[in-house]
Amino acid sequence: MLEALFRRVEDKRDDVVALTQDLIRIPTINPPGEAYTPCAELIGNRLARRGFQVRYIRAEDTPGDSARYPRTNVVARIEGRRPGPCVHFNSHIDVVEAGHGWTFDPFGGEVKDGKVYGRGACDMKGGLAASIIAVEALLEAMPDFPGAIEISGTVDEESGGFGGVAYLARLGMFSKPRVDHVIIPEPLNKDRICLGHRGVWWAEIETKGSIAHGSMPFLGDCAVRHMGAVLDRFETELFPKLAAKHTDMPVVPEGARSSTLNINSVHGGQPEGFDGLPSPCVPDSCRMVIDRRYLIEESLDEVKDEVMSILDDLTRTRQNFDYRIRDLMEVIPTMTDRDAPVVRAVADGIREVLAKSPDYVISPGSYDQKHIARIGHLHDCIAYGPGILDLAHRPDEFVGIDDMVDSAKVMAQATMALLGMAR
Ligand SMILES: [Zn+2]
Repeated sequence: MLEALFRRVEDKRDDVVALTQDLIRIPTINPPGEAYTPCAELIGNRLARRGFQVRYIRAEDTPGDSARYPRTNVVARIEGRRPGPCVHFNSHIDVVEAGHGWTFDPFGGEVKDGKVYGRGACDMKGGLAASIIAVEALLEAMPDFPGAIEISGTVDEESGGFGGVAYLARLGMFSKPRVDHVIIPEPLNKDRICLGHRGVWWAEIETKGSIAHGSMPFLGDCAVRHMGAVLDRFETELFPKLAAKHTDMPVVPEGARSSTLNINSVHGGQPEGFDGLPSPCVPDSCRMVIDRRYLIEESLDEVKDEVMSILDDLTRTRQNFDYRIRDLMEVIPTMTDRDAPVVRAVADGIREVLAKSPDYVISPGSYDQKHIARIGHLHDCIAYGPGILDLAHRPDEFVGIDDMVDSAKVMAQATMALLGMAR
């Protein structure tokens, strides 16, 4: 059976290339969320022709949704001949802007030397195409399969997934009993299984001051200097403390195996006026946005306490220090068990197709698995796909055609195993 299945996938080599090209040629740039509907329809029309029931679900009133930029998701489901579990492949259809430095047309889908080039080739239209090919091959080779198979194309992953997977998860579309196993073909390399991601805490800190004439700063109180005091304590205390924390999570790249903090932005004082000349005032407000990525060994309370204790200490020790802090986003770290069914099934596929043992990794940044875990309460979920992680969001992004075919075989074999079919 497995041989026949792999042959079907091989036979679809040209098809997976053409599908990837078609997907790349729809520039689903986010923000603002361009061309989501035609891209969802490309997927939906194709799967409807193969017997899937297709639903288009617009995430109304989610960030960015408007008549001009509707947040259109597509969910396609096909039922087997008898009851059984459901395997779901979820891909985001949005891509980040092309940016500069391309030598290929970012939305041309050109093929050269065994690679398809374009924005989203690797992250993650190549992975989406591979999963569709894998499922189509399986349906042809085993038309009497049990259970159900779903394929979704969802929006806004690059901006947090609120109108995409989070929205669908709230509708129960990523929960049992509807769905049992989820594979997200994000670009993590075809021989690696991504078990989850680190946690995220975004927050905005504001220091307060009082406005006065810039020629007499002693009459006011400079909010930027107060923020400078915060940054000083971050440099001397917080950064060394975070760098010393190491995780047992197999995060890639290696540098992300510690806790990290990015100072995302600092804004203070009045905006510059004509010709960049200053408004001669003492700043009465300074805002800083921090991006803290944390480990499964840490709790969110502890992560927040490290920052708050510095701010509270400054309140006690620094004259007129006054601050405000606001949470912008929280994501709990997720790590699927290595013995989970979806992990074992994909690992077996990698051993069979690539004749090597898989590497188990954790993503440094988060992706839609967070919503499936937290809102859907579904934990049999991984990311596995053909793209090369380091190419994501870069100029001349590409996906290897062999990598798509190989990973499609792995996905097809894993689906067969998860549906309980004998090989
Ligand atoms: Zn992605």
